[in-house]
Amino acid sequence: MNTELHIYNTLSRKKELFEPLNPPFVGMYVCGPTAYGDAHLGHARPAITFDLIFRYLQHLGYKVRYIRNITDVGHLVNDADEGEDKIAKKAKSEQLEPMEVVQYYSDRYHKNMEQLNVKKPSIEPRASGHIIEQIEMIKKILDNGFGYEVNGSLYFDVEKYNKKHHYGKLSGRKIEDLVTNTRELEGQDEKRNSYDFALWKKAQPEHIMRWPSPWSDGFPGWHMECSAMGTKYLGEHFDIHGGGMDLLFPHHESEIAQSVAANGIEPVKYWLHNNMITLNGQKMGKSLGNAVSLEKFFTGENDLLEQAYSPMTIRFFILQAHYRSTLDFSNEALQSAEKGLKKLFKTFETLNKLIPSDHSTVNIKKLNEKCYKALNDDFNSPVLIAHLFDAVRIINSINDKKESVTAEDLELLKNMFKIFILDILGLEEESSKDQNDLSESLINTILRIRQNAKENKDYATSDKIREELTKLNIQIKDTKEGAIWSYDN
Ligand code: ZN
Repeated sequence: MNTELHIYNTLSRKKELFEPLNPPFVGMYVCGPTAYGDAHLGHARPAITFDLIFRYLQHLGYKVRYIRNITDVGHLVNDADEGEDKIAKKAKSEQLEPMEVVQYYSDRYHKNMEQLNVKKPSIEPRASGHIIEQIEMIKKILDNGFGYEVNGSLYFDVEKYNKKHHYGKLSGRKIEDLVTNTRELEGQDEKRNSYDFALWKKAQPEHIMRWPSPWSDGFPGWHMECSAMGTKYLGEHFDIHGGGMDLLFPHHESEIAQSVAANGIEPVKYWLHNNMITLNGQKMGKSLGNAVSLEKFFTGENDLLEQAYSPMTIRFFILQAHYRSTLDFSNEALQSAEKGLKKLFKTFETLNKLIPSDHSTVNIKKLNEKCYKALNDDFNSPVLIAHLFDAVRIINSINDKKESVTAEDLELLKNMFKIFILDILGLEEESSKDQNDLSESLINTILRIRQNAKENKDYATSDKIREELTKLNIQIKDTKEGAIWSYDN
């Protein structure tokens, strides 16, 4: 097993050697989507980032239990614990059951993930399926004195917690600044301090998503689900917790506080956060109204888009930036990703045609090591991709007889392409199936024309067709049942 992996830990603000708590097992929890709308580019980034990490850890031999939840309750329109539940709001406006909304958007999300070749997580829990676990965890927080009840709702006492522990350790925010920066919001008077957050909310009469609890009929606060489900499936202290940078505060900060308050220990060893996708420098988020759904990218039906972009183009575009850098959307960038991807897959064909020599003029082992070095440096996919394009140049030079490689090096080169491009970056050749289908029907059409020519004793045409097809490495055999053909490899 490779032990040289370094990952950037948001908590310590530095790159650390990756040492799992209980090797070869690795527990990884990533905050998934709230199922109330179509996935957009901003959802694709964490999904692809943690898919790369999941794939690489598995490649290194770790047995990864990857949890990616679906939020189906408790995520309010306003992050300050006020306003409607996002799902209930959508259900009301569409006259559906909340869980119909959740099912519909979860199914669409899964379809998008499959199109992007994102592997399924090991477990995909839903918040509404873990109300009991959340209630139990809230009880522990209350027992330990870090929560208080007001009119059937429960809040986390940030000030009290901060006296003993450190609220803000992950996001770097200071409790003093939170007071002045938090806007006054209606209903906030229930909280002792504006920065306290809801553990459990009593449901108003019109609120349709509600469960019984010792305190009131209501629903859990948004941060509770990840604390409860992470603990349930990965234990009180696990390896990796990830998500988008927009979740750092208050979501992840509050998750730490809840776990420490309930269990008395830090929940996570390595915190990982992907950066945002920007559009002309602005965050491409759901609230900005400039979000384009993945579906629209795939069909090109949006004024922002000059053309349709395939799922693999989107995937490659995202992997071309390091996950901790911002990634600015533009048609030019996507078009260049599309070109780059084509070039990579074309090289697979060239690679299969190469003939080994008795000596190597290029150091393939070194190049292979560089690829691992890039990934071991906090999953640096853009550097890996740069090395793969070096390999493309080398492969073309070998094909042009300007360089040469031994059979052993050629095998390594082929292996590199398979492992890094297909297995780890998770790229796959698109429409190759369609193209194969098309080629087959074209050849069959041509053979039917040839058959007609023969029947009309037009041997010049039938011979010409055979000759041209032979040039394309297609062998024709005339049988009693008609001509059959095969690729001559
Ligand atoms: Zn979460």
